[in-house]
Amino acid sequence: MSNLPNCPKCNSEYTYEDRGLYVCPECAHEWTLELEPETAQDQRIIKDANGNILNDGDTVTIIKDLKVKGSSSVLKVGTKVKNIRLVDGDHDIDCKIDGFGAMSLKSEFVKKV
Ligand SMILES: [Zn+2]
Repeated sequence: MSNLPNCPKCNSEYTYEDRGLYVCPECAHEWTLELEPETAQDQRIIKDANGNILNDGDTVTIIKDLKVKGSSSVLKVGTKVKNIRLVDGDHDIDCKIDGFGAMSLKSEFVKKV
């Protein structure tokens, strides 16, 4: 079994490698393999509801009433959240909110100020 890619033109599987080029014997197409660019440090890009990229230390506002887990409090639309910290996980923003304390938010429910 070879793991050479199929021809991108005619999808033939009889491709072979020749001096760094891939060659298709069926349609004579030659091409080079495009390497995937390595992502820097495997860093995730976290975007707000409008598609703006969020960074540590940004200030955001909440765009949707959010219930606070385990309490009857609700974070209201328009609540300002300062100095966010981006984290891995389902809730990708860590922050502190006046009157609520430390919270985890989802980036899809905030927008950058
Ligand atoms: Zn081909």
